[in-house]
Amino acid sequence: MSNHLSIAVVGAGSAGMFTALILQKKGFRVTLFERAEQPRTEGCGILLVSDGVKTLDHSGEPDLTTKMVQAGSIARQFHFRNLKGKTLNITDSELNDDKPPSLLIRRSAIMKTIWEALDQRCFKGGHTVIEVQQAIDQVHIEFSNGIHWSGDMLIGADGIFSQVARHIVPERKLNYLGDRVWRGVVEDKHGFCKDGDFFVYARAQGIYANFFYLGPSDQGKPMTHWGFFHEEPIPKNRSEQQAKLKEPIPEEALKRLSPDAASLISSTNHDQIVTNWSFDIDPLPTLVKGRIALVGDAAHAMSSSQARGMTAGLEDAVELSNSIQNHTEIQNGLAHYNANRLPTVHKYQKRSREVSRKTGRKQTGAN
Ligand SMILES: Cc1cc2nc3c(=O)[nH]c(=O)nc-3n(C[C@H](O)[C@H](O)[C@H](O)COP(=O)(O)OP(=O)(O)OC[C@H]3O[C@@H](n4cnc5c(N)ncnc54)[C@H](O)[C@@H]3O)c2cc1C
Repeated sequence: MSNHLSIAVVGAGSAGMFTALILQKKGFRVTLFERAEQPRTEGCGILLVSDGVKTLDHSGEPDLTTKMVQAGSIARQFHFRNLKGKTLNITDSELNDDKPPSLLIRRSAIMKTIWEALDQRCFKGGHTVIEVQQAIDQVHIEFSNGIHWSGDMLIGADGIFSQVARHIVPERKLNYLGDRVWRGVVEDKHGFCKDGDFFVYARAQGIYANFFYLGPSDQGKPMTHWGFFHEEPIPKNRSEQQAKLKEPIPEEALKRLSPDAASLISSTNHDQIVTNWSFDIDPLPTLVKGRIALVGDAAHAMSSSQARGMTAGLEDAVELSNSIQNHTEIQNGLAHYNANRLPTVHKYQKRSREVSRKTGRKQTGAN
């Protein structure tokens, strides 16, 4: 396909920024629009599974994989425990020369590594999409700051609450998965997690928690990520939902966890904690309409039960950019992406709900 095409990517999360990077390296004219003024670097730890690390080899940027591996810590052992901290099972991570290791890594490190490889002149912060239209030969975007963009193709990477997805599948809706979730990063002063550790505190008594080692901070201090899931109904009213996201973990809920795990969570600074309600979406009937395609959570937001969300978005970026490059007509390239990618992401979404059900989550969406 002609490299003179002008392509808008909306949303500079991991899926959007990685898509923009690959397309740039292939020579396309890319503009990366983002609602926030600057690329968002907040977020906590991520388990980037081996398939996700493998996608980095397709970025067109030499050494991206090496830089990412250096920025994270290799996942070595998964410990499954009950809430009291008793070990139920330990599984070794699959480590061999045929595939890259799975990484325990801060989201900020992932974003920084991709950002530094990007020609940053493509980035336009402070651009919130409010309207999308397309004609046979053009896509048109309107932003809340009054700016308009017209070009050949639009890639919607605007996350779980996607505006672009509404244009493709108007009936797309969020399913609440039954948890309020707190995640944090904390200095692990007493060596609760060691290098390569991932701890899962199995879901019981309305809570679930996980912890993993992130490696040393810039100051050389050992850092650990934690996630705490609390089953509760979501308030109907949006302002009430927002207000509840400012609250700390209820003390009586934290007490259900073993004291060493609870005390690590309690020692976390406020500004190192993010809170959200958990949602997924039903598998979409299509990821493409005309000159518009979806990647990342916009296309297939799923529960974190399999730690696949970010990896799936990076895979979308590789598949989509190859499909665009290998076809002369835009519509054919996007149809190829849709045909190849849709069954895979449906499989991930189905699996994510199955694992959620198996591990005791009560609200898992229909399958
Ligand atoms: C509790 C939890 C734990 C998780 N753990 C893991 C894990 O261990 N491993 C893993 O692989 N995945 C995990 N995930 C999933 C993973 O975090 C997501 O799948 C991934 O971050 C989604 O990336 P994205 O780029 O698609 O979306 P986002 O990161 O949400 O990026 C979307 C971007 O679009 C911008 N935007 C939104 N609307 C507009 C608009 N109208 N106009 C312009 N810009 C807009 C936003 O500001 C944002 O920057 C987890 C998720 C949760 C909730």
